[in-house]
Amino acid sequence: MILLTRKAEFSASHYYWNDTWTPQANQRVFGKCANRNGHGHNYTVEVTVAGEVDPATGFVVDLKQLKDVMEREVVAIYDHRHLNLEVPEFKTAVPTTENIAVAIWQRLQGKIPGAHLHRVRVYELPDLFADFYGEV
Ligand SMILES: [Zn+2]
Repeated sequence: MILLTRKAEFSASHYYWNDTWTPQANQRVFGKCANRNGHGHNYTVEVTVAGEVDPATGFVVDLKQLKDVMEREVVAIYDHRHLNLEVPEFKTAVPTTENIAVAIWQRLQGKIPGAHLHRVRVYELPDLFADFYGEV
């Protein structure tokens, strides 16, 4: 078994807010991130697939297909969007780095032909990232 990782980037806005809490509680927990006008990040997502190397091609997965799936399922939907307002999964879930990693996993699962999705890593900042391996 070998692991192969492809990166993609997208830029998006978000804010942190829990509708079931008071505004004061949101301010206390989320601080500046609770500003409802939002703020932006340049996100990097790494998608790692696991599989066996095909002896004929030397590939674990068709790289063009992997790129296309990431582009279609993630970048086209998240890039230059306000995550809270424009991406369905964040109408209810707070768009933290953790929740973005889970959402990207759910978007990609079962859509990468010939390989097993192993890890989704999302960087919100160069020194802050979340990993999701599919366990809930
Ligand atoms: Zn932020």
